Amino acid sequence: MMIIMNEGATPTEIDLVVERLRGAGAEAHIYCSETVTTIAIEGDREMVAGLPLEALPGVDRVVTLLRPYKLVSREFRRSDTVVPLGATQLGGGHFGLIAGPCSVESREQTLEAARFVKASGATGVRGGAFKPRTSPYAFQGLGEEALQYLAEAREETGLPVVTELMDPRHLDLVLRYADVIQIGARNMQNFHLLAAVGEVGLPVLLKRGLSATIEELLMAAEYVVRAGNPQVILCERGIRTFETATRNTLDIAAVPIIKARSHLPVIVDPSHASGRVELIEPLSLAAIAAGADGLIIEAHPAPETALCDGAQSLNPAGFARTAARIAEMVAWVGKTLG
Ligand code: PEP
Ligand code: MN
Repeated sequence: MMIIMNEGATPTEIDLVVERLRGAGAEAHIYCSETVTTIAIEGDREMVAGLPLEALPGVDRVVTLLRPYKLVSREFRRSDTVVPLGATQLGGGHFGLIAGPCSVESREQTLEAARFVKASGATGVRGGAFKPRTSPYAFQGLGEEALQYLAEAREETGLPVVTELMDPRHLDLVLRYADVIQIGARNMQNFHLLAAVGEVGLPVLLKRGLSATIEELLMAAEYVVRAGNPQVILCERGIRTFETATRNTLDIAAVPIIKARSHLPVIVDPSHASGRVELIEPLSLAAIAAGADGLIIEAHPAPETALCDGAQSLNPAGFARTAARIAEMVAWVGKTLG
C-alpha cells in the first residue's frame, strides 16, 4: 500500500502519518518530489487496516499496489530517477554510453580502450576485474591490478569506471576504484550482495538474470533501494530462449515495460544480448528507439586477441562508426548524450 499526500502537505502532516503507521507496527518509506510526498507502507495490510489513513490531515489517497515491488515502482515515484555517471548523468533524458572491454587484460589494453571509446563519445568506461566465468579454467580477471588500471584510465580520460562486484568481501576494494558497481546477470538474485551494495553511496548497475522475469529484476532492484541506495540502473542484457542464432535473445519489449512500471533508468547491453559484433549497432539503435536510457557495449583495441568475449566486442573503427549512429539516434529521440 502507498499513501499519496496532498500537494502542499506540511511536514507535520507527513510526520503524523508516519507516526501512526509506525505506531501500528508498519514501516514507512518516504519519497518527496517537488510537489508531492509519497509514503510506501511496509508491513501486513492487517497492521494498518484499522487506521483511518484517508481521514488524516494532508492525505490525498491510499493506493493498493497490485505488484510486489514498491520503492522502485512508478506509483511510488512518478518522475524518472536520474543517476550520476561521473560528471554526466543517466536517466530522465540523459543518455549514457558505457563502453570498454569485457575484461581488463593489461594496462595498455585498458588505457587504449578508454582513449578510443572516449574519443568516440562514450560517457563511461567498463572493464571487468572480477569475471564470472562459466569455466573455472577460463581467465578470471586481474582483481585489484585491473582496478588500478581502470582508475588510471579514468584519471587520463575523465570517464567514470563501471566494474563488476561478485563477492561482498571485495566491496571495500571495488569502492576505492569504481564509480558504478555492476552486479552481473549471474548474481542478480544474490540477495546478500544486493543488500551490501544497497548500503553504499555509489550507483549500482543491475543486470537482468539469464532466466529472470521483469518482475524478478524489479524485485532484485527493490532489495538495493530498500537497503538505502536509490541509485540503481537496470540493464536488459538478453535472456535465454530456444533461439541459438544469438548468444541470448534481446528482450526489447522489456525496455518500455520496465519504464512504464518503474522510475529507474534502463540500459541495454547489445554485446551480451547477441554475442555477435555485427548485431551491436542494429540492437543499439532498436534499444534507443524503445526508450533505453543508455547502452553498455563491449569494445576492445584488438578484439581478435581478447581473453574474453572478443566476438561481441567492437574494434576502435567499428566503435567509432556505431557511436556516431548512436549519437544521431539519441538526438533524434530528443535525449542528450551525457
Ligand atoms: C559482463 O558485463 O561482462 C558480463 C559478464 O555480463 P552479464 O553479467 O550480463 O553476463
Ligand atoms: Mn563480457
